[in-house]
Amino acid sequence: MTMIHNLGFPRIGARRELKFALESYWKGESSRDELQAVGAQLRQRHWADQQGLDLVPVGDFSFYDQVLDMSFTLGNLPGRVQGFHGDALDNYFRVARGRSALFDPQHLLCCGGVAAGEMTKWFDTNYHYIVPEFTVGTQFKLDASRLLAQLAEAKAQGVRAKPVIVGPVTYLAIGKAKDDSDKLALLERLLPVYAELLDTLAAQGVEWVQIDEPILVTELDADWQHAFNVAYHQLKSAKVKLLLATYFGPLLDNGYLAANLPVAGLHVDAVSGRDDVLPLLNLLPAHKVLSLGVISGRNIWKTDLTAVLDWLEPLADRLGDRLWIAPSCSLLHVPVDLAQERKLDAEVKSWLAFALQKLDELRVLGRALSDGRDAIKAELAANAAALSARRASPRVNNPAVQAAVARIDAHLGRRESPYAARAAKQAAILKLPKYPTTTIGSFPQTAEIRHARSEFKAGRLDEAGYQAAMRAEIERSVREQEQLGLDVLVHGEAERNDMVEYFGEQLDGYAFSQFGWVQSYGSRCVKPPILFGDIRRPRAMTVEWITYAQSLTSKPMKGMLTGPVTILNWSFVRDDQPRSASCKQLALAIRDEVLDLEKAGVRVIQIDEAALREGLPLRRSQWQEYLDWAVECFRITANGVRDETQVHTHMCYSEFNDIIASIAAMDADVITIETSRSDMELLDAFENFQYPNEIGPGVYDIHSPNIPAREHIVQLMKKAAERVPAERLWVNPDCGLKTRQWSEVIPALARMVAAARELRAAA
Ligand code: GLN
Ligand code: ZN
Repeated sequence: MTMIHNLGFPRIGARRELKFALESYWKGESSRDELQAVGAQLRQRHWADQQGLDLVPVGDFSFYDQVLDMSFTLGNLPGRVQGFHGDALDNYFRVARGRSALFDPQHLLCCGGVAAGEMTKWFDTNYHYIVPEFTVGTQFKLDASRLLAQLAEAKAQGVRAKPVIVGPVTYLAIGKAKDDSDKLALLERLLPVYAELLDTLAAQGVEWVQIDEPILVTELDADWQHAFNVAYHQLKSAKVKLLLATYFGPLLDNGYLAANLPVAGLHVDAVSGRDDVLPLLNLLPAHKVLSLGVISGRNIWKTDLTAVLDWLEPLADRLGDRLWIAPSCSLLHVPVDLAQERKLDAEVKSWLAFALQKLDELRVLGRALSDGRDAIKAELAANAAALSARRASPRVNNPAVQAAVARIDAHLGRRESPYAARAAKQAAILKLPKYPTTTIGSFPQTAEIRHARSEFKAGRLDEAGYQAAMRAEIERSVREQEQLGLDVLVHGEAERNDMVEYFGEQLDGYAFSQFGWVQSYGSRCVKPPILFGDIRRPRAMTVEWITYAQSLTSKPMKGMLTGPVTILNWSFVRDDQPRSASCKQLALAIRDEVLDLEKAGVRVIQIDEAALREGLPLRRSQWQEYLDWAVECFRITANGVRDETQVHTHMCYSEFNDIIASIAAMDADVITIETSRSDMELLDAFENFQYPNEIGPGVYDIHSPNIPAREHIVQLMKKAAERVPAERLWVNPDCGLKTRQWSEVIPALARMVAAARELRAAA
């Protein structure tokens, strides 16, 4: 009999109950007991939802982050919080979120103020974890209380519990040595604590423990490979069986290593690593369980159950009881329940599966393998019907779009002239001063904007009233910018709820869920739009707003667009064609918008690629392929304009060293980036590469309410001018100003403009 199991369940709740409970607790509006009660209810409900599985994850629930949980389990708290007294959960939140001493008057002197742990992306997902911190002196000490408590709850509920923990090698690999010491040297100290943890679980009657080692899908050097051997040979004597779980990609050259570690079972991602499975079978020792993740934990599509069975049945014959099946990874990365969706149209809905529906698919596959396909004839037929309807739907297939993609050739992505020639023509038209000033696009999302939007959504404000409210906001932004004396203006993006959703809503091929939330970090969730079909732009999306804004001023107004790569990276995308194919369709649609803006007289067009870097594959060997098509898509979008039209792009990060050649290949006339926090050192990449076009290094951090000093901005720009010729520098903030207040934005920009004037005068 094939066992079915799950690697992890979304913890946030179908209606984001955990989010609201956390935020209310943090605001002091509810008690710790109330928060704990919500946690217990969610765990109970989610275990009940997983009924019928042979093994159910325990310990996957978290009040903030499973990696931070692991740090607490291992007693690895950052030095700055080790003197903490008070409630353990509050201390946990202090590490997660940081705390200013002012909020904590009782602990002002002892343990009040503390910086939050650093946060970073969990592999190539949009989930962010709290980075474990190490120093040469880091010591570990077991605290199994959280796991034991959840295990006891699970037992009381009759759950077939499989505790889930982050494995020791991955734990070290994803952490950071604060003193640049060798993290791997800590392995020796770490392993006894893991051994103690496993024995503690065994004492509770646990048979299987899932130990997550996703680092195995990345490129590992010899030291890290060796660490795997050391770790698992030492944990071999544990009194539980270990299921070593890998996911997010194929094992490739780590296959031999993973197959031969002394554990009882191995889980692999058989969605993104399907081709890897057969070679792995030949490496796997004859006693070992192989768990195949056959249902994608990363997307929202129904699984092709017949195709999976065609592939699985011979493996089941070969492996017998040693075959288990599961989702490819934790279901943390998908929304909870499709059944809640009321507005999603029935056709698109019939193609989708969220976490609960994916578990249903798993049960069906389990029965097929145990009892034969006849036992689930109806389910298979319904699944096949939905899939073939999707394949044939005219909403998925638009021959005109496919033909346009097929016609893409190199000239589509090429400007008329090289940068230098363009720059001269643009300068003649735009007549900008040296060190021109601009902003990144959005201005504060005021209470008025939010109110108008919610009234409009609720049907209490009509279309005309909504448009008028947004126009009033645009006018306000333009007036403020003129007052401030900025050189290139923006309309402020009042009409946009979100930089991806706004465009998705206007494109054919996109759908939106009501409750399709996925945890991004802590209580923060995102609701990625669903790209389901060929992308077509039925009509212009931004031209009216931008031309209205331009009509209010004689200064150049930037047309603001989100680029194809960012739209793609922040959506749930199709699984029936490569990502690059969807991206090209988006590129053609946004290109048409660019050309319409140009036709309408807009002379500066910014195409944001905030998330370009996020799409980098986990393995470096695959980076170039991604960068090639991503850059091509940007170029298709941007480069159809005349020389006189100035193209800007914006990126929300600062690590450019390893991708600078691709950034340059995009050939935007101007790029604005985040640099203020690094003291302009990040411009080194641009200097070393001799980046040829214009750059606006962000001169102040918009994430902080602090108003930057003029002298500081001047100083930063002087540093920038040591690296990039002053003629090619712009002066702008780090990112959009949507999260700030006008009362912060006005003085900050006033100082920025004053700094630019000082620089000009000195030049
Ligand atoms: N134009 C967008 C804004 O200003 C860019 C946001 C971003 O880079 N994340 O809000
Ligand atoms: Zn940004």
